Amino acid sequence: MMIGVDEALNELVIANRILANENVVDAYGHVSVRHPNKPERFFMAHMLAPPEMVERADLVEFGLDGNAVNDSRTPSIERFIHSAIYEARPEVQAVVHAHAEDSLPFGITDVPLRPVIHSGSFIGSHVPVWDIADNFGDTNLLVSNTAQGRDLARCLGNNNVVLMRGHGFAAGARSLIDVVRLSVYLPRNARVQLAAMRIGKFKPLSDGEIAARSAGYNPYSAQSWRAWQYWATRAGCSHLLGKRPDGDGK
Ligand code: MN
Repeated sequence: MMIGVDEALNELVIANRILANENVVDAYGHVSVRHPNKPERFFMAHMLAPPEMVERADLVEFGLDGNAVNDSRTPSIERFIHSAIYEARPEVQAVVHAHAEDSLPFGITDVPLRPVIHSGSFIGSHVPVWDIADNFGDTNLLVSNTAQGRDLARCLGNNNVVLMRGHGFAAGARSLIDVVRLSVYLPRNARVQLAAMRIGKFKPLSDGEIAARSAGYNPYSAQSWRAWQYWATRAGCSHLLGKRPDGDGK
C-alpha cells in the first residue's frame, strides 16, 4: 500500500504527537518519514518544534546527506541517524530516535534486550548495541555527522532497532505506523524484562513466535489502524486522522 505525500506528512504530524504523549520522546527525540515519491528524501520536524506541538508547517524536507532542501530553519543535530538509516536500508520508510528511559539499562550492561511480550515482538530477536566510543572516542554522544550516522546504521544492520550506549535507541520500519508501534512497545517490553530479571530467569519469544507475529502484517488493516486511532485519540489529535487508506494492499 503506497500512500501519497499529503498522507505521509499528516501521519508524521500524528506520529510526533503520539510519541510525545506516550513518553517515548520528550523535548528531544524525533521521528521521520521517507518521501513516498522521492526515495532519496525524507521529512522531519525542524529542531525548535517540540514533538507534542508539531504541525504540518514544522516539517522540513532533507536529502540523504542530512542537508535540508531549501529550508533555513535550524535542523536537529541528530538528523544523520535518519539519513544514514534511509541510505543503508532502502525498504525502511520511517525512523524513530528517542531516549526512552527504560531502554537505557540494556545499552550499558551486557544483558541483551529481548522480546519478552507479544507486543514487544516487533523489536526482533536481536537488538544490537552501538557504542559511539568504539570508533569515535570521547564525544558528546550525539550522532552529529554522516560518518557517525553510517557507523550506527552498520551496527543496526538488518535488525529493526539498535540501542545506543548511554543515549537511547534508533528504530526503522516499513511505515510510520509500524515504527510508532515498535517505539511505544519497546520501553514496555524493557520494563517487563527488567521486572522478570528481578525474579529470576526469563523466557523470550522464540524466533518462530516473532515470525508468526509479523506474518501478513499490514499497517492499514482495520486491526492495525485501530491502535493508531487509539494512540491518536489519547494524544488529542484524532481530528487529524484521515480515512483509513485501503487495507487490501500489502
Ligand atoms: Mn539523541
